[in-house]
Amino acid sequence: NKFKQLGLNDLLLKAIEDMGFETPSEVQEKAIPVLLANDTDMVALAQTGTGKTAAFGFPLIQKIDANDRTTQGLILSPTRELCLQITNELKNYSKYVKGLNIVAIYGGASITAQASDVKKGAQIVVATPGRMQDMINRGMVNISRIDYCILDEADEMLNMGFYEDITSILSHTPEEKNTWLFSATMPREVATIAKKFMSQPEEITV
Ligand code: AMP
Repeated sequence: NKFKQLGLNDLLLKAIEDMGFETPSEVQEKAIPVLLANDTDMVALAQTGTGKTAAFGFPLIQKIDANDRTTQGLILSPTRELCLQITNELKNYSKYVKGLNIVAIYGGASITAQASDVKKGAQIVVATPGRMQDMINRGMVNISRIDYCILDEADEMLNMGFYEDITSILSHTPEEKNTWLFSATMPREVATIAKKFMSQPEEITV
C-alpha cells in the first residue's frame, strides 16, 4: 500500500481504504512523508483538485493528540464553502480516530453555536479569517497553544483582503508552531507572509 509507505498509521489507512483512494497524488507523495517525519514549515504550490486537503490533513490528523482537548491545529481558508469542504474531508479522514473533534468557524451562521462547539474541545479548528478574528476578539476561541497552522489557498485569502486578519490571527499563535502554506500561485503578498511568519520552509511544487 503506497499510503502506508508514506508513513500513515492504521486508523488513517483504514479510512483511506473506505474512501477508495488507491494511489497518493503528487502533492500527497511530496508533502506527507516530510510533514510526518519533521517538525517543519512548508510552502506548497498546488492548485485545487490536486488532493492538497489530504496532503496537509493526513499528517495533521496523525500528529494531533486526540486525548488532549486543547486546540492544536488551525486551518485558515478563504471562503465558507471551502471551510465546510475541508471540515467534511477531515472528518472523513479521521473517522476512526476516537475523541478527535473538528469544528468549522465561518461567517453568516450563529457565532454562539460555533463558540459552544469550540468550547466542548476542538483539537482542529477550520476557519475563515474574518469570523476567526471576531471570535478571538470576543474570547470565544483560544489558539495560544496550537502546534500547527495551515494557510490554505493563501493567494485567494490575500486577494480577498484578509492580510490584516491573517497577520492579527497569527499574532495570537505561539512562535514555536509549524506553519504549512498552500497556494496555487506565489504573488509577492504570499511570499511576504511566508517570509514574515515561516522559518526555513520546505518547498514543494506540483
Ligand atoms: P482537493 O484538491 O484536496 O480539493 O481534493 C480533490 C478531490 O480529490 C477530493 O474530492 C478528494 O476527496 C479527492 N482525493 C484526494 N486525494 C485522493 C487520492 N489520493 N485518490 C483519489 N482521490 C483523492
